[in-house]
Amino acid sequence: MSPQETQAAESVESTLARAQHCFDVSDHVGGVAAARAAWELALADGAAPALANRAATLLLLHLQRSGDDEGTLTEGQRALARLGQAHDQGDRAEMLGAMALSADQLDLNSEALDYALGALDGAQRSAKPMLQCLALSRLARAYTRMNNPARGIELARQALALAEGIGDRDQVFRALTMLADAQSEEGELMVVGGQPEQARQRFEQAYLSFDRAKRITNPQDNPYRRCIALVNRGQALTKIGRMDEALQDLDEVRVLARQFGFGRVLLAEVEMRATAFIGLGHPEQARQICEAALADPLVSGNDALAPEMHERLYQACKAQGDLEAALHHHELLLKLQQRKYRRRSDAQLRVLLARAEIERSRADAQRAAHEAQAERERARALQAERDRLQSQALQLDREAHVDLLSGLPNRRALQARLQARLQARELSSAAGSEGGPRCCLAVIDLDHFKAINDRHGHLLGDEVLRHIGRLLAQGFREPDFVARWGGEEFVALLHGATPTQAQAACERLRQAIAAHDWSALAPTLAVTASIGVHAIERGQSFDEAIAHADRALYAAKAGGRNRVVLGDDVPADPD
Ligand code: GH3
Ligand code: MG
Ligand code: MG
Repeated sequence: MSPQETQAAESVESTLARAQHCFDVSDHVGGVAAARAAWELALADGAAPALANRAATLLLLHLQRSGDDEGTLTEGQRALARLGQAHDQGDRAEMLGAMALSADQLDLNSEALDYALGALDGAQRSAKPMLQCLALSRLARAYTRMNNPARGIELARQALALAEGIGDRDQVFRALTMLADAQSEEGELMVVGGQPEQARQRFEQAYLSFDRAKRITNPQDNPYRRCIALVNRGQALTKIGRMDEALQDLDEVRVLARQFGFGRVLLAEVEMRATAFIGLGHPEQARQICEAALADPLVSGNDALAPEMHERLYQACKAQGDLEAALHHHELLLKLQQRKYRRRSDAQLRVLLARAEIERSRADAQRAAHEAQAERERARALQAERDRLQSQALQLDREAHVDLLSGLPNRRALQARLQARLQARELSSAAGSEGGPRCCLAVIDLDHFKAINDRHGHLLGDEVLRHIGRLLAQGFREPDFVARWGGEEFVALLHGATPTQAQAACERLRQAIAAHDWSALAPTLAVTASIGVHAIERGQSFDEAIAHADRALYAAKAGGRNRVVLGDDVPADPD
């Protein structure tokens, strides 16, 4: 790790520790700020994926618990997109679990189901049974909310079995609560479906499940959970007509909630107590406690609580025969419900739009990445094709300048070289350097080669030419240059050689050819060459230089072959 990375990790880590501490002490407002800072630091500093995962998870858990469902969903979608493949499965399960809860709160039921399924998938992949229990419970809730309580019951039972297996009391409590909810909901559906007897059975089962949940709580350990268990059981009792027992549960709730300052629990208690009073035929008492509750502006201004209070008041007033007051509360109830649904559908719309936006930008990014990849591949293919054409051109160029039989440069290559050579001499003489560097030209012609072909066959003749190619290549090295001129004739350029030096070099070559072991090709084979040498003069053209060397060659042939003749030995052609 570089020093910068270490520093980044430390600051992400210390901010994360702060967010975690807030979580432990249930300070979700402070926790949102700390977790958001940790998440932003993790993104900006490219922190380790484990830290980024944890920061995003804590941010969502804090957002969800602070009641910001819209924030939970939009931040969650953003974080899921950012983490992508680097997502730890356990963290993914926790994040999607929080999102499932928030979607549930906003009545985004099919989203809640999606997230709960994702949470279960992450939990299974992470192989953490506690997270699996949690996800199963949330999935149970999602199915129940989507009018499929039967599936909810099934999933809650799975969650319960798993929770009991690992002996996790929190999870057992949660699974039992979800099971009871699903049973109660199935009962409600049966009421609507005209099956009062089955409905009552379901409500009895729900009561038993809530009762089991209540039994594993105790007021010292976790008074809040105890209250929830009592409220739930009390509600189940009102549904099966056991109002007195319901009121006993509510008495305990009231004591605990007052002692620990659980404001919302107290209001739930009031609402349920009102239901019980109405059921017991004491509407005036129900009316009294609801009116007292509504006197608190925190209640009358609360979207969730105020409609419940007005609904109880409507029922109580109706039971009292005070129809004018009942109508008043009913009208208020409708207005509040309308406001609540409008706010909720606005929030739903914002969440769905944010989701669509995030998904679109993710798709855009993916498309851009694909296009960039395709572009890189196209460029690579183009480069490969260019390389191929270039090496093909080089090969063609080489072939155009090489004699395939002898492996020596061919006539075209020689002409190019000689032309360049002559131009250089002209330039250097024009510059005043007297004569410039010397250069000699030698024409080498095999003796009686036709006879060799005739005697040994053309193929052997070819083999002789190959051997001669190798001997010439060895005889003349850079900066000298030797080429096959055509047929059994070769031409050498000897750079920087005096005529005498050139003659000596050609003499060595002649001897090497004559002394070569030709018997390997044919027992009686003997090969010799005649060589004409010419010292190139200033201002001479290519053709003139060749003609001079040729004349020396003829002299060598005429002189009996297998010899070297220097051009100056030969008188100029009389023509
Ligand atoms: P001289 O000593 O006077 O040069 O006699 P020569 O037979 O070598 O000369 P001539 O020009 O009469 O014959 C050259 C022969 O070289 C004729 C041709 O068949 C042969 N020749 C030319 N090119 C090739 C080749 O690529 N392969 C073979 N095997 N023979 C070739
Ligand atoms: Mg010839
Ligand atoms: Mg010949």
